[in-house]
Amino acid sequence: MQKNYIIGFPRIGEQRELKRVLESFWAKNCSFKDVVRVASELKERHWNYQREAGIDFISSNDFSLYDNMLDTAFMLGAIPKRFSELKGEELYFAMARGTKSSVAMEMTKWFNTNYHYIVPELSTDDEYKLDASKIIDEYKQAKKLGIKTKINIIGPITFLGLSKRVDTKDSYEFLSKILPIYRELLQVISKLDERITLQIDEPIFAKDNDVKVLSLIKPTYDALANVSKNINIVVTTYFEHSNEATKVLVNTPIWGIGLDFLYGDANFESLSLISKSSKKLVAGVVDGRNIWKNDIVKTDALLQKISKEVAKEDIIISTSCSLLHTPFTLEYEEKLDAKIKNWLSFAKEKLDEVSLISKLFFSSKNGLNEEELSLLNANIKANEDRKTSTIIHDEAVTKRVSKIEKFQRDGSYEKRIKLQKELLGYKDLAITTIGSFPQTTELREARAKFKNSDITKEAYESVMKSYIDECITFQEECGIEVLVHGEPERNDMVEYFGEQLKGYGFSQNGWVQSYGSRCVKPPFIYGDISRPKPMTVDWITYAQSKTNKIMKGMLTGPVTILNWSFVRDDKPRNEVSKQIAVALSDEIDDLQKAGIKIIQVDEAAFKEGYPLREKKIKIYEEWAVRDFKIAVSSSKEETQIHTHMCYSEFNDIIKTIEAMDADVISIETARSGNELLKVFKEVGYKQEVGPGVYDIHSPRVPSVEEIVKQIKLLLEVLPKEQLWINPDCGLKTRKYEEVKPSLINMVKAVHLVRDEL
Ligand code: GLN
Ligand code: ZN
Repeated sequence: MQKNYIIGFPRIGEQRELKRVLESFWAKNCSFKDVVRVASELKERHWNYQREAGIDFISSNDFSLYDNMLDTAFMLGAIPKRFSELKGEELYFAMARGTKSSVAMEMTKWFNTNYHYIVPELSTDDEYKLDASKIIDEYKQAKKLGIKTKINIIGPITFLGLSKRVDTKDSYEFLSKILPIYRELLQVISKLDERITLQIDEPIFAKDNDVKVLSLIKPTYDALANVSKNINIVVTTYFEHSNEATKVLVNTPIWGIGLDFLYGDANFESLSLISKSSKKLVAGVVDGRNIWKNDIVKTDALLQKISKEVAKEDIIISTSCSLLHTPFTLEYEEKLDAKIKNWLSFAKEKLDEVSLISKLFFSSKNGLNEEELSLLNANIKANEDRKTSTIIHDEAVTKRVSKIEKFQRDGSYEKRIKLQKELLGYKDLAITTIGSFPQTTELREARAKFKNSDITKEAYESVMKSYIDECITFQEECGIEVLVHGEPERNDMVEYFGEQLKGYGFSQNGWVQSYGSRCVKPPFIYGDISRPKPMTVDWITYAQSKTNKIMKGMLTGPVTILNWSFVRDDKPRNEVSKQIAVALSDEIDDLQKAGIKIIQVDEAAFKEGYPLREKKIKIYEEWAVRDFKIAVSSSKEETQIHTHMCYSEFNDIIKTIEAMDADVISIETARSGNELLKVFKEVGYKQEVGPGVYDIHSPRVPSVEEIVKQIKLLLEVLPKEQLWINPDCGLKTRKYEEVKPSLINMVKAVHLVRDEL
């Protein structure tokens, strides 16, 4: 009997081999054959890991050279017209990355993760045609190794739900066009073996769907499950409960349903239905989104609870979602404190957990052999140790946080802004930037050397300071009015703060795929958070001492620090975020005392933390706003608080943004003219707004005329007194050659517009 299951495995490689070969191929330093070879080695290695760990259901087609949604578009033949001249890998990568003449397809976040998928573009002219080669090849490759994989595909409803139609109409209308292709695919798959398991991912079922979408489920899955009797279809959802869909799916001839019991505990409500339908239940109980060692005793209890309703023989033990969202393995972590390392579990270690949990569940403790018993005992000990460890629990922190009395800053916005305008004396359409300036090789090297103790503190600081000096000189010469120091000392806007906060840990090799070949290495919060000493004050005061203009202090907000870290699972997220907020409020207090008059608290990832379900969104918004306000609660009325958010969709969250009560917010708008600003006007947004006037994601230098036009568009929506002028986001990924002329043009444009007003 097959008892355990992995939804999907990461593919970038434990040494980021896929990243390396892809980037080398794109730079024309190797051939596509090399890419294929590395990809094939990685797939085999990952299958072997799973086999060695004793995993029964191992996936094929969870691999991708870029992204699974893109693979699905490719499989269906959903190729945008502008790429129709291309073929093969050239076409595939052009869709993902664009070419000189054609822009890339859009990319966006996969549900509430930091993984980005390629958004398929559908057009009424499309003629879909099956290309199952990738799926077949991977299945056969694994079979040669003696592994009969389950095949993973993205389901048609999720595919359409996440696609966009060129004519902006409802993508779901295309179901009748793509369903026949899916059926054809199943036909092809059915010929691969006597019996095949097919995992169809439908994470969109974990959202609040309207009746119209839900009504598609039954006909779709009846149609798919009826293609061939030898395919066992498992429909999997994750990140939330999917009770509405489960209700329908139990009445279709699919074989199993995969549910996430960690992030969707409401799935418990569906157990009796599943049991009556005698479908298999793929029970997601090992966290695919976090890095903590599973508490096996607790998980066993959870499974026992499940098995009160669903027969044991129908349960299959699984991860909560694909392990794509966790780093690879702890094996290369040499610098981690041994104690902390023993609390962690990355993708490869999670395989062993799934395996051990299934043994314990199906054969009970008595059925475990000696080795398994000792693994279980080690797990119990590690979890015990973590619960009681002194490096996690800091009473001073919990006490202080429980006694917070000040939840917001003094003074109404109206009163504050009056004071600030008098004191700071900035003009209408005040000119500023978002914070970072280009990161140069010299900076990166200096930071790395300092970290390795290869250069002295003095040498390091002198590199940073001369960067700051140059950055200030440039801003002054060019006519920027509120300056920044350029963030040369920061490797990353979260890691920089994490490194200075107590309670934070870092991996050396904990890379997680973010999009394509790009990976991020989120730090992790293991304990109560506090700030041993000021984190930014020295740099900012140094910068302020070099100019008579106003220097903005630059911090990352509590919600963003939280959302871009792996967070401890032994405390509610909102408690952790409150601790970060308190630490930041101390920093703001110190900056203020040091004479800093404007402080920006970036909340770039505020939106990213939004839960998938309406019911939970309210709760999130409440504590996220609460913690931003706690962070800035120490600021005096005359200290101007800015925030920055880098996205362009504010319609749903505008009231929440307003409630954060920042004096000024800068946002990303350049690519959408003044469209997105309109909602600010509609709701009567009071505070000042800095809508980006040019897109920093492209190396292109915007012309003065273009920026003038953009500013005028903004002025059609909001009055000049309420507007700031700045680029869309930080400039760290750009080159100085691009940034300088762009900012010069931006300043010229503002002067031209001011002259006309
Ligand atoms: N202050 C940060 C910077 O300029 C903000 C980055 C961001 O919004 N992602 O780099
Ligand atoms: Zn930004």
